Amino acid sequence: MSVVPLKEWGMPIKDLFLGAGPCSAESEEQILEAASGLADAGVSFFRAGIWKPRTHPGSFEGVGEKGLKWLTRVREEFSLPVGTEAANAAHVRACLNHNIDVIWIGARTTPNPFAIQEIADALRGSNMPVLVKNPVSPDLDLWIGAIKRLHNAGLKKIAAIHRGFSSSKKVLYRNTPNWKIPIELKRQLPGLPILCDPSHICGKSELIFSIAQEALDLLYDGLMIEVHPNPAQALSDSGQQITPAEFKSLIRRLTLKSEISDSNEYQTRINELRLEVDSLDEHIIELLGKRMEIAKKMGDLKRRNNVSILQPERWQEIIESRIAMGSEEKLSGEFIFQLFQAIHEEAIQQQEKDLRKEGPPG
Ligand code: PEP
Ligand code: MN
Repeated sequence: MSVVPLKEWGMPIKDLFLGAGPCSAESEEQILEAASGLADAGVSFFRAGIWKPRTHPGSFEGVGEKGLKWLTRVREEFSLPVGTEAANAAHVRACLNHNIDVIWIGARTTPNPFAIQEIADALRGSNMPVLVKNPVSPDLDLWIGAIKRLHNAGLKKIAAIHRGFSSSKKVLYRNTPNWKIPIELKRQLPGLPILCDPSHICGKSELIFSIAQEALDLLYDGLMIEVHPNPAQALSDSGQQITPAEFKSLIRRLTLKSEISDSNEYQTRINELRLEVDSLDEHIIELLGKRMEIAKKMGDLKRRNNVSILQPERWQEIIESRIAMGSEEKLSGEFIFQLFQAIHEEAIQQQEKDLRKEGPPG
C-alpha cells in the first residue's frame, strides 16, 4: 500500500505531526479562543468535532454544519489547517464544500464497512487527508479494512490514529491502549503513518503525558490531543481536555526517540543483548515443542481411555501454580495467565487434531 509520507501532506510539521483542539466545537468564541491559544504551538492542524457520535442520546451531539464556518475562520485568522470528524457521505460533502484540510474517521465509524465505503466514495477524486481511528473493539482487521477501502478509492494521504479500545475490565484508562494492536498494524502496513490520541485512551488529563511519551517510545509519527480553553466547562469529554498552555508544556517535555543511534557503545551492547535474547527465544521454543509432545502423549492416553481432553481441575491448578511461579520472577499474573491460556489452547488443538486423525478407540 503506497501512501504519502506526512512531511509531504503540505501541513506544518517539525518532528511530530500534531493535531490539537477541543473535543467539540461549542461556540464561535470557544473555537477562536482555543485556536488563538494554539496559534504558536507548532501544530499541524486544529481539530474540533462538529458532529459528535455520542453513546447516549441527549448528550451534546455537536453544533453541526455551522461549526465548519468557525473552522474556516480559524484557518483564515490563524493560518492553521483545520480538521473535523466525518461519519457519512453528507459530512464529507460539507467538509469538501468548506475546504476543510483534514478529516478523521471516528472509532464508532471505522468498524462499519457501509459507512466507510460511502465516505470513501464521497472522497474519490479529492486529495483529502484522512486519519482513521481504530475501531472501539480490538479488531485489527476492521481497522485495516477501513484503511484499504479509503486507499482503494484513490486516497493517498492516509494515517491511522490509535485511540485505545473498549474493555469490559475496570482499568486505569478510559480505553485500554492494547499496544500490541497498533504495533501489529505497523508491521502489516509499514509505510502507514500512525498517530496516538492519548486523550481518548486516558480519559483523564493527568495521564496524557505518559501515554504520549509511550507512543513516541514506540516510534509513532504524531499525536492528536484534545485542547480546550476551559476544560472544566467543556460540553463533551471534559475530564480529558487540557488548556493550550498545558498542551505547549506537555509537548516541550516529551522526548523524541529515533530507531537507531550512531553511538558505537550503544550498538555493541544492543547487539550483545539481542544475541542473548535470540538464544533464550530458541530455548523457549524448543521447550514449548517438548511440552507439546508430552501433551500429545497425554491426549493419546485420554483417547484410549475415553477421558475428556479438558480437565478443569487440572487446568485451574496449572493457572494458579504458574501465576505464583511467575510472580517470583516479577512477571505479572495477567501476562502468565495469557501465556498459559495460549499454550493450553494450542495443546488442546493438537490433541483434537490427533483425535480426528485416529477416530474413536478401536
Ligand atoms: C473525538 O475525537 O472527539 C472522538 C469522538 O473520538 P473517538 O472516535 O476516538 O471516540
Ligand atoms: Mn472527544
